[in-house]
Amino acid sequence: MELYDLIIIGGGPAGLTAGLYASRAKLKTLLIEKNLAGGQIATTDLVENYPGFSGGSGQELTKIMEEQARKFGTEFLAAGVTAVQLPEREKVISTTQGQFRARAVILATGAAPRRLDVPGEAEFIGRGVSFCATCDGAFYEDLPVMVVGGGDAAVEEAVYLTRFAEKVYLVHRRDALRATAVVQEKAFANKKIEFVWDSVVKEIQGDELLERVLVRNVKSGLEKEIAVNGVFVYIGFLPNTAFLEGQVKLSDSGYIITDDCMATSVPGVFAAGDCRQKLLRQVVTAAGDGATAAFAAEKYLEEQR
Ligand code: NAP
Repeated sequence: MELYDLIIIGGGPAGLTAGLYASRAKLKTLLIEKNLAGGQIATTDLVENYPGFSGGSGQELTKIMEEQARKFGTEFLAAGVTAVQLPEREKVISTTQGQFRARAVILATGAAPRRLDVPGEAEFIGRGVSFCATCDGAFYEDLPVMVVGGGDAAVEEAVYLTRFAEKVYLVHRRDALRATAVVQEKAFANKKIEFVWDSVVKEIQGDELLERVLVRNVKSGLEKEIAVNGVFVYIGFLPNTAFLEGQVKLSDSGYIITDDCMATSVPGVFAAGDCRQKLLRQVVTAAGDGATAAFAAEKYLEEQR
């Protein structure tokens, strides 16, 4: 079983930045990612708020991050993590490609889209229900679609979808958006977006393909059908931490609890990015977490020697 100084689980901006910093510190580093590196931001069409990178796609940004980490020596493994043993001094990470040992670990597993959990949602995934406008938006040229949610993601992606769709209904459970003011302004100025306030999705319906959504007004109790061919769900995220239960301290919502140095409740185990309990989950904070976690891991390893 190969022994690394550091294993990073997750290849989004947090993990990639941790890889860059750890490799530059000459730690023998392995980054394990089950999909392509990039994380959630790689599904975003336009990144406007990462300083120094204005206007490119999330995929372009994370490609640069990956190349930078590789250049300094981070090894990459495409595999799913199936189990971890973290309490020992030498941590064991079991993956679909075998077992690996490390003296320190950074958890950068990110988060996954929260689901509506209504009838029809699971059935129509890939046939009308999507969690990624960048991936699927172009299928809806001149067709009506719906976005659910009122945060930055929902509102930004609603605006993005107006490039293709004939009309975008934005269904939100309250009568005010959570999204940042500048994002809201763009949406309010877009004539293709119709806001469906105080409303929740009750059922997603169709035959072979998605045809309509049953929506309920939470104030009046009235229900109505909206004819759309696509539903894009953007109602927040859940941390990818289920496999860590009983291993590191998690919050009630499942986020990893760390101190300011990204240290978890287990010595030698650090966390970075969206899987961590914190105020702001963006690329810029993920990258900052990754750098801090790698630096803290290096200090920890020095102390152990
Ligand atoms: P979010 O900010 O947590 O917003 C989730 C939205 O979904 C809220 O409007 C919420 O309603 C609604 N919602 C939650 N559960 C629901 C349910 N079961 N049914 C119906 N609606 C539900 O999530 P997000 O928009 O995905 O953003 C996540 C983080 O990424 C945020 O920190 C955000 O700022 C950041 N982000 C930033 C950018 C950017 O800076 N350009 C872009 C995308 C995301 P309520 O408002 O009533 O709670």
